[in-house]
Amino acid sequence: MPRALITGGSGFLGSHLSDRLLAEGWEVVAVDNFITGSPDNVAHLGNEPRFRLIEKDVIEGVEYPDSLDYIFHLASPASPLDFFNKPLEVIHVNSIGTENALKLAKEKKAVFFYASTSETYGDPLVHPQTEEYLGNVNSIGIRGVYDESKRFGETITATYRREFQVDTKIVRIFNTYGPRMRLDDGRVVPNLVAQAINGEPLTVYGDGQQTRSFCYCTDLIDGFFRLATSTQSGPINIGNPTERTILEFAKEIKALTQSQSDIVFQPLLTADDPKQRRPDITKARTLLGWEPKVSLQDGLRATIEYFAKRLEDGKR
Ligand code: NAD
Ligand code: UDP
Repeated sequence: MPRALITGGSGFLGSHLSDRLLAEGWEVVAVDNFITGSPDNVAHLGNEPRFRLIEKDVIEGVEYPDSLDYIFHLASPASPLDFFNKPLEVIHVNSIGTENALKLAKEKKAVFFYASTSETYGDPLVHPQTEEYLGNVNSIGIRGVYDESKRFGETITATYRREFQVDTKIVRIFNTYGPRMRLDDGRVVPNLVAQAINGEPLTVYGDGQQTRSFCYCTDLIDGFFRLATSTQSGPINIGNPTERTILEFAKEIKALTQSQSDIVFQPLLTADDPKQRRPDITKARTLLGWEPKVSLQDGLRATIEYFAKRLEDGKR
């Protein structure tokens, strides 16, 4: 059975990817420095002999003594709040960290899988976003630390493919949510759900007319698995194309939590907050046979249940 190393393996998505690979019978080595993730996310794997968690900052290097078949490079803070608070950590993990993970893939002759993002399209002028769209990114804006370093991560991944024939895969992930997101990570799902459960006002930034398309975590991970085990190299969009305004989304959360909270409008966190975002998933559908299955209502119900329990237990 294959052995995979996942950088960022105890983050939100890394932990779900670990679950999926273990369920497929694989061995998993998770590497994480816990800057935005937590060992809590993989605590349920504590007795699993095919799982190992190693504390390590991939900016300093990443090594492993035995053979590896796959390297999934997921390590990177992912919330706009982190782009403010940890800008250099974001830049370095997607540049130096990506090259460190690529070097290991080259050494081990492993498949290299890079977790890129819809943010490579910036504030998109083409809608929905196809993989051919080259993007509209403000290189010196606050979000630029993430957008440009992810773009660089794609560039160096493509370069290792051309120069060293590393078998690479690039996925562009669109907004994904679910259990094990950090309650205080500042992204819209944990913010609004926690506010609704706590009876606090739901904060909608700007006029709430900006759109996003939300994908449930297990759907996304199924797309990861299909891409990783396919002959495709991408970049390929994985996300749920059902688009909503953020105001509609806030109302949906309010209804599902049966919250009496008001919805309040607050200034946008960053001036370059994308006004619209929806993946064109034609490639994922035709090349990988993938499409999302979990409805927003079902996904949100599972997420609300998870956050309610965390809040009850006094955890973040
Ligand atoms: P997350 O913050 O939960 O996970 C990232 C993990 O990487 C964390 O466990 C963190 O501690 C770890 N990490 C960060 N820097 C590290 C370093 N230098 N060394 C070792 N570990 C490090 O976020 P997530 O939502 O699970 O995102 C995972 C990946 O997917 C990221 O690369 C992110 O950019 C990408 N992504 C996520 C989304 C989404 O909607 N969730 C959208 C687009 C892209
Ligand atoms: N947002 C909001 N209220 C919040 C947090 C976020 O209205 O409490 C908005 C944010 O301005 C953005 C959208 O929700 O337009 C999605 O934000 P998130 O940080 O989750 O991800 P992004 O897609 O911006 O990276």
